[in-house]
Amino acid sequence: MTATEPLYSTDAYLKTFEAAVVDVDPDRRRVALNRTAFYPGGGGQPNDEGLLRWHDAVSRVTAVRSEGPLIWHTLPAEAALPDPGAEVEGAIDWERRHLLMRTHTALHVLCGVIYADHGVAVTGGNMKPGEGRLDFEFEAMSVDLGAWAERRVNEEIQRARDILVSFVARSEAASDPALIRTKADLIPASVDPLRVIDIVGLDKQADGGTHVASTAEVGTVTVTKTESKGRHNKRIRISVS
Ligand SMILES: [Zn+2]
Repeated sequence: MTATEPLYSTDAYLKTFEAAVVDVDPDRRRVALNRTAFYPGGGGQPNDEGLLRWHDAVSRVTAVRSEGPLIWHTLPAEAALPDPGAEVEGAIDWERRHLLMRTHTALHVLCGVIYADHGVAVTGGNMKPGEGRLDFEFEAMSVDLGAWAERRVNEEIQRARDILVSFVARSEAASDPALIRTKADLIPASVDPLRVIDIVGLDKQADGGTHVASTAEVGTVTVTKTESKGRHNKRIRISVS
């Protein structure tokens, strides 16, 4: 069976790529490719947008979605669709994607400092370009949590910590304390190996998204809001500039 090779998984900095159309879904105005640099969304990170070109046609990609082994690229209703087997060239909207990579990485840094200093885990999160939020299992929240988190996150960013991507066998992940605390065991058992994002010395988690290569690339993080979402759930919102 044909599967789409997820190029973003091993190279988050790939902006353009060549691929072949392996399936066309005219009803839903979308095409599946044999390989792609378009992130299909997941783990709180939205899908990429960008362009596809083939022969003398060019179209925007408005949505990207992973379904089974294939990654589908949705084109606007008015666009023509390439034929099965056609060679295409893809270009992701890099400005938007890079801001998402910085935002996503900033959330990992936040996760790392909260765990290092408070020992509480993340329960959920979400992001859009330049803005994100995480929920933590805090019972109580001090009034200066936001200011403290902002200072600590920016300190870690300035340390220019390397961020490494690796693939770790399930059996090995099961004995890694960092992966246990970030609840890698909740990922379906069929996912093996796990893709692991390691902000060296700070935070390590199983994750399918795209991140920058050094914390120095994140920029400046501002905590925009802290709020209580229940007895064991406190939310921290950030922006990246
Ligand atoms: Zn992540």
